[in-house]
Amino acid sequence: MPVFTGFWRVRYLVCVMKRILLYGLSILLSAAVLLAAAQAIHRTFVNSWNEKQFEEFAARAATRMDLAIDLAVIAMSELSAAGELACTAEGEAAIRDTVFASSAIKDIFIMTGGKACRAFAESDLMLETAVANKPRYGARNAQISLFSMTDNSGHPVLGVVWTLAQDSEAIAIVSTDALLFDILPAAVRDFADMRIDLGASTVVASYEPSTGRLADEDVVERYRAASARYPLTSLLRVNRNATSGWNRERPLFVDIAAIIGAIIVGSLIGKLLSRPPSLAGDLKNAIRSGEIKPYFQPIISLGSNEIVGCELLARWLRRDGTMVSPAEFIPLAENSGLIDGVMEAILTDAGPQLAGLIAERPSLKVSFNVTPRQFLSEGFVTRLGALILQSGLSRARLVVEVTERQQIEDMARARTVAAELREQGIHVAIDDAGTGHNGLSAIQTLGASCVKIDKLFVDGVVTDHRTRTLVEMLVTVAREFGMTTVAEGIEDTEQVAVLKALGVQEGQGFLISRPVPAAEFREQVNRSSLAGKVVALEGGRLPNAPDRSGAPMRLSGWR
Ligand code: C2E
Ligand code: MG
Ligand code: MG
Repeated sequence: MPVFTGFWRVRYLVCVMKRILLYGLSILLSAAVLLAAAQAIHRTFVNSWNEKQFEEFAARAATRMDLAIDLAVIAMSELSAAGELACTAEGEAAIRDTVFASSAIKDIFIMTGGKACRAFAESDLMLETAVANKPRYGARNAQISLFSMTDNSGHPVLGVVWTLAQDSEAIAIVSTDALLFDILPAAVRDFADMRIDLGASTVVASYEPSTGRLADEDVVERYRAASARYPLTSLLRVNRNATSGWNRERPLFVDIAAIIGAIIVGSLIGKLLSRPPSLAGDLKNAIRSGEIKPYFQPIISLGSNEIVGCELLARWLRRDGTMVSPAEFIPLAENSGLIDGVMEAILTDAGPQLAGLIAERPSLKVSFNVTPRQFLSEGFVTRLGALILQSGLSRARLVVEVTERQQIEDMARARTVAAELREQGIHVAIDDAGTGHNGLSAIQTLGASCVKIDKLFVDGVVTDHRTRTLVEMLVTVAREFGMTTVAEGIEDTEQVAVLKALGVQEGQGFLISRPVPAAEFREQVNRSSLAGKVVALEGGRLPNAPDRSGAPMRLSGWR
């Protein structure tokens, strides 16, 4: 798990906010798309469903008419089978009964030799004229033909003629008035009309909305069906309201399904888009793209004030101009296995930057930091050796600083590693000495050549006698083992005086200079050389070194 210090916490929060935003947007967009899709699918479905329904209504109208005619034919054939389709008193009574019993059949009569024999006594001249003159339309059954006429009240009726013999036929008058009114559902009754034609264009039945027949220009669709047995066709015409208004309400479950779908799809998209905040990924990219740079903090001899070396300190210089402190990203680098990458970036950059300077001043020491875990890691010496070769730095003046802040878990191995480094001519320094868990014995065990006294003790060396005693002890132990002592974090001249008096040989700190880019460090060294001797501390500070009261280093300001 990465360590979330201040900077990473902000970074993490930003990532979480981004994630919430991405999820929200993904779900909203998915909802919009899915609802639109549901609407389009529903519209297509309804259109095709409505079309089928209209076709069905047209077919049903034709079938209704078929049935009415069938009914008349059956009634006549039943009378005939009973020997009652005849102009006898019995026949007439039977015919009368049949007509009474049927609501669709209005009349049945027999025409023989142009003379009508009727169930009802009164003669109907209009009817007889129609039978004689109206055009007949043959059915599939050659004995059956149809004609159309209007009854006494002006309603259309259909004549169903059954040819009994050469000059004899039975005729049933079928009412078509009520055949069509209930075929259309209530929702479209006001927006459609229907009719049934006998032959090409003789209307035998019709339905009109209460507002009257549709005007031709209002009709948007026409549906037709034809009877298979009789020369009849039905025509259903609908206007825009019928096609756009019917069955249009989207059922609630469709919207609910679309919203559930949007949440699922949106979450998946959100998950894809917002990878979990990968802090290590950021650092990896930073290493790859050269955002990790070495800064150089001069180390001077407290005796001569001469610059004797420098410490390489990692800086993450982001493209947006902000800088991330190593205290923020070194723990992350270590926990995510990127610490060697940081070391590689620092050394390979520092090599060429210092090359000219080292050629002029071969005695210049170059310190750099490694963590105890890195120091103890498998193949560390080999990796470092290869890196030094690649960087062009000189082994002889290279110092590896191992911090005492973290426990050196395997002291025996640390000793072996230190010995291997020494064999290669590389020095080892104990960094942050006095703060650690390993105690003074570690300094001796490791066989380090340098002890760096932590700023904590430098801070108190002037005012606190116990601190002074501890520094004194460190210096004594170091001297005993032939080690150099370097004081870290010197911030004022009084500290220099006390440290010198205690026998500390070298020092670094803001009093002398903050960590600076290579060019500035080169300038500092050259300026001191130009002065003909070692750096002259002007009021305890390197010429042009940044003032202690100057603006603090910018550490945050993450994109
Ligand atoms: P360190 O090795 O003890 O480095 C000294 C730290 O004290 C540096 O902080 C330096 O800028 C700061 N410092 C020097 N003089 C003064 C002073 O007068 N006053 C104050 N207040 N501070 C001063 P920095 O650069 O932030 O580095 C912090 C730590 O990060 C280093 O402590 C070191 O342990 C680690 N570090 C830095 N660069 C690397 C690296 O490349 N690799 C590894 N493994 N660790 C590194
Ligand atoms: Mg250090
Ligand atoms: Mg230190």
